[in-house]
Amino acid sequence: MKLIVIGIQGAGKSTQGNLLHEKLGVPYLSTGHIFRQIAKEHTPLGRYIKEVMNAGYLIPDKKTLEIVSEYLHRPEYEKGYILDGFPRTPAQAEAFENGIDKVVYLRVSDKEALWRLAYRSGANGETREDETLAAIKKRIELFHKFTEPVLEFYRKKGVLIEIDGEQSIEEIHKEITQKLQ
Ligand code: AMP
Repeated sequence: MKLIVIGIQGAGKSTQGNLLHEKLGVPYLSTGHIFRQIAKEHTPLGRYIKEVMNAGYLIPDKKTLEIVSEYLHRPEYEKGYILDGFPRTPAQAEAFENGIDKVVYLRVSDKEALWRLAYRSGANGETREDETLAAIKKRIELFHKFTEPVLEFYRKKGVLIEIDGEQSIEEIHKEITQKLQ
């Protein structure tokens, strides 16, 4: 099963992605996580990615496609995956024709996402370096500009599942699994 989870930052993608991983036994892969790992490397690429991420901007499509395709060719992703954070632009979606079964869109308002993120950083006591308010706002702005057309792309293909992401974690998980059947 090849799934994509889409939503603004704070929509609950990694929570739901991990629950789906447990339920379906398919590996979960987040491009944000991949890029955060690369950003730790003391290399020109690492430093570049760190700078782009901390500003909330997107990594260029060519680089993103190169890195994602390298990962997805690994044997552990042969039978499927749950992909979070990719594709994020129409160019990425068009270049990525990988027999996707379903795309789950977790719909949450900007206001709700900002509340959740403010609570998240306060609640667990650790702030991620790329989670400043300015970077989060930029990411939300870029979501509307570049990722909403990606939703349209998958809607036209008839594979988009839309979920009200403002319900409880359990309700959302239940709705996703029902709609996947
Ligand atoms: P996320 O954890 O998904 O919010 O991603 C954090 C950051 O990683 C983003 O702000 C981008 O800088 C970068 N990133 C993650 N996925 C992508 C993608 N598909 N295309 C471009 N940049 C990405």
